[in-house]
Amino acid sequence: MQERPEPRVNIPVHAAPRRLALLGATGSIGRSTCELVAQSNGALEIVSIAGGSDVEALAAVARRFNVKFAAIADPSRYSALKSALAGTGIECAAGLQAVIAAAIHPADMVVAAIAGTEGVAPTCAALQLGRTVALANKESLVCAGTTAIRLAALHHARILPMDSEHNAIFQALGGEPPANIEKMILTASGGPFRLWPREKIAAATREEALAHPNWAMGPKVTVDSASLMNKGLELIEAHYLFDVPAEKLDVLVHPQSIVHGLVSFADGAVTAGMACPDMRVPIAHCLFWPQRMATNAPRLDLAKLGSLTFEAPDHARFPALQLAIDALAQGRGLPTVLNAANEIAVSAFLNKRLDFYGMARLVERACNAAIQDGTAREPQTVEEALAVHHIARDRSLALLADTIL
Ligand code: MG
Repeated sequence: MQERPEPRVNIPVHAAPRRLALLGATGSIGRSTCELVAQSNGALEIVSIAGGSDVEALAAVARRFNVKFAAIADPSRYSALKSALAGTGIECAAGLQAVIAAAIHPADMVVAAIAGTEGVAPTCAALQLGRTVALANKESLVCAGTTAIRLAALHHARILPMDSEHNAIFQALGGEPPANIEKMILTASGGPFRLWPREKIAAATREEALAHPNWAMGPKVTVDSASLMNKGLELIEAHYLFDVPAEKLDVLVHPQSIVHGLVSFADGAVTAGMACPDMRVPIAHCLFWPQRMATNAPRLDLAKLGSLTFEAPDHARFPALQLAIDALAQGRGLPTVLNAANEIAVSAFLNKRLDFYGMARLVERACNAAIQDGTAREPQTVEEALAVHHIARDRSLALLADTIL
């Protein structure tokens, strides 16, 4: 797909800039956000940033956008960040409290793009202040969905979905109430193993799982895409985000990744959110919502594509998806447990301690164990969600050490 050479910006330059708190500034979503801010002709401004441990990249963003505050999650990187920002006047700090401080720094919008469960507490802190949150951190809803949605409602905080599927559905919904929705469908590319037989998937290597056909993302979400666990986590995310029950949610495999989400209504009408598979599209939609920004993301040329294909997901070859559907149907703390166990499973696969299907087996055992001993209670606060999360992680580590998976 051809990139457009010159971005056209249609936001009036005299308007006060929209101030962003960018969490996960050095990750893939963070870098795309920075690119869009740089092209916004002053319509967007980054005031605070947070990153994980990459001091050089974080300091480069801080200097480039002359932010007011920069936070690094890894406390051992504090002095490195301080010296990297010496002489700039940019305030900096380290640790979880610093990341939370970046999240609640005075701003008009929080871009929550931290990868993983580390993003839950900062996202919820922003919601508690009634901030508009452009949400790319799916763990905020999968791990602490009930709490995050309650905080948003209580403090009149708006959540704008930045994940491509949810953003497409948000646009396809056009403000329709949940009662009018018959079905909400998230598409999945099918990942690198879509056409592989089960035996070949069983022997898949880390490198094969990391070779995603359509999207360039971090390693955790890329492995989740190969197993379809990512789609399962996204179903859970959609349930909380759009207030739609599990039985109205569905997954459709669509290898071209052009249609990202569909909504079918009570009268049989179906709307779809479509775009080239480029994260700048949903990111720009959130950053400028309810206006639109012209970007240089590739344009969709349906005549050139010729055909779009769809197929049902194969649960026999991709058992992780069903585990997530079951966790959502069970409710309570099961989504939290599923997410925690999956984190351990993916990291064990990436470290070659588990084979590909070992990931689903570990997640299933961790969920069953939590059901049996009652630890999968419904978390009511961020602290409770993180407690359920950590218990499930410890349980999964123990299962990993004890059992031949
Ligand atoms: Mg997605």
